[in-house]
Amino acid sequence: MEGGSPACKTFLMDHIANYIDGKLVPPIGSGYIDNVEPATGLCYSKLPDSHSVDVDAAVESAKKAFPAWAETPISDRAAILRKIATLIEDNLEEAARAESIDTGKPLSVARQVDIPRASANFKFFSSAIEQFFSESHGMGTLAVNYTVHVPLGVVGCISPWNLPLYLFTWKVAPALAAGNTVVAKPSELTPTSAFLLSKICIEAGLPSGVLNIVHGLGSRVGQSIVEHPNVLAISFTGGTSTGKQIARTVGPLFKKVSLEMGGKNPNIIYKDCDFDRTLETTLRSSFFNQGQVCLAGSRIFIEKSFYERFKNELVHRTKALRVADPLSETCHQGALISENHMHKVLAHIKLAQEEGGEVMTGGQRIVLKGRCQKGFFIEPTIIEGLTPNCRTNQEEIFGPVVTLTPFETEDEVVGYANSTAYGLSASIWSNNIKRCHRLSNRIQAGVIWINCWMVRDLRTPFGGMKQSGLGREGGFETLKFFSETKNICIYTGD
Ligand code: NDP
Repeated sequence: MEGGSPACKTFLMDHIANYIDGKLVPPIGSGYIDNVEPATGLCYSKLPDSHSVDVDAAVESAKKAFPAWAETPISDRAAILRKIATLIEDNLEEAARAESIDTGKPLSVARQVDIPRASANFKFFSSAIEQFFSESHGMGTLAVNYTVHVPLGVVGCISPWNLPLYLFTWKVAPALAAGNTVVAKPSELTPTSAFLLSKICIEAGLPSGVLNIVHGLGSRVGQSIVEHPNVLAISFTGGTSTGKQIARTVGPLFKKVSLEMGGKNPNIIYKDCDFDRTLETTLRSSFFNQGQVCLAGSRIFIEKSFYERFKNELVHRTKALRVADPLSETCHQGALISENHMHKVLAHIKLAQEEGGEVMTGGQRIVLKGRCQKGFFIEPTIIEGLTPNCRTNQEEIFGPVVTLTPFETEDEVVGYANSTAYGLSASIWSNNIKRCHRLSNRIQAGVIWINCWMVRDLRTPFGGMKQSGLGREGGFETLKFFSETKNICIYTGD
């Protein structure tokens, strides 16, 4: 469908372009896909429906650019990355609006979280690469070893729609910093901020071919990047089923692969917690970004003697959340990413009721008035009365839906926490520090927060256990992933 929201047309482009060999280019086959604004349900721009030929062109350009970029002095690479970071900051308002319109998230969230973090990713890795070190192992008078980390070549970066520029740059920035050239694909549902990034890279003077962005469907463009023989590593963030498919493809090709996937994270609350902070943060960990965050604390376990008090206050505060046009400054909760996804989340709520759950608040689609009357909005939803092993408590819903479950003993709550196939993150709320340490050791998750949630230091390892992930991102972990490690041994004996 052509046309769409007139409000968006004042600053957004009708046709998004691929970024290949330093130029903004149409797809070779000239097909386009509608880009729908989730808040209105209307198409407001078009993105390239690229095919493997576009990926071939991107890989070719990345391959050509690799030797010079890999040999560019680290300080020069870092300077370009810092320039990109600054330009993202300079264009914060435009990028935040683009992100809000593409995703349906509140503009305030895009302004305060998504875009500042995208800039921080470039700034952080421009500095990290300057601190990246080599190790050396002496063997007395016999020999000395030194271990270097060299760039891989062309690498592929594939990211999801929930935190588009935030997660796209979390991969692209370290890949470039480490001296690789990149072929990247943002989600087909949220292409605009990556398109703005292409323009910023041109303005920042990033040499042609160093970063290439190919838009289109995951099954075509994503799959072609993963399969391409000249793409030597894949860094992917997205759903576990897509991750499995990527793992199957790259296994026999012996590519390096990093997979950041889904979560069904426990949020464990003890009576001796700091009540106000726990409540405030639980509201965020439940409904931030409409619950579309891999780190969402979607299973809330509350100590039994404290259950009713906490539940009542959480329900009260949830009812006060304002679901509204994401572009309005007073919106707390925006739209879900797509009509399909909205129906998937509603089906999960229905399933929860069939499984015996009682909806304490929410549970319905919301039809707003005016510009957003066809948007994909759902009430923030709290459900209780379910068993920890039912499907609702085992499957990732990825929407504004949380469950409440009481517990009495430590063993019981650890069992609940570890009962899913996922193992991304967990939060523990208690002022008993010994208990917090015990639980942290026993819970199967790559990221544990004690008395907080989503507090991030970009130097720390980030990633999941079990079906939530393979490998870790963050700090030197990412720089090592995007490098080949080589040991050089020099014989120093007679
Ligand atoms: P998907 O797995 O559907 O898609 C992720 C990306 O992969 C998109 O760019 C998609 O393209 C692409 N893709 C799809 N199929 C293939 C394929 N066969 N080969 C290569 N690439 C492909 O995830 P969503 O975008 O729906 O994101 C939501 C999921 O991401 C949730 O499960 C969430 O938990 C997870 N996630 C994990 C995070 C973590 O750090 N662990 C962080 C954020 C989200 P297209 O969109 O065009 O189909």
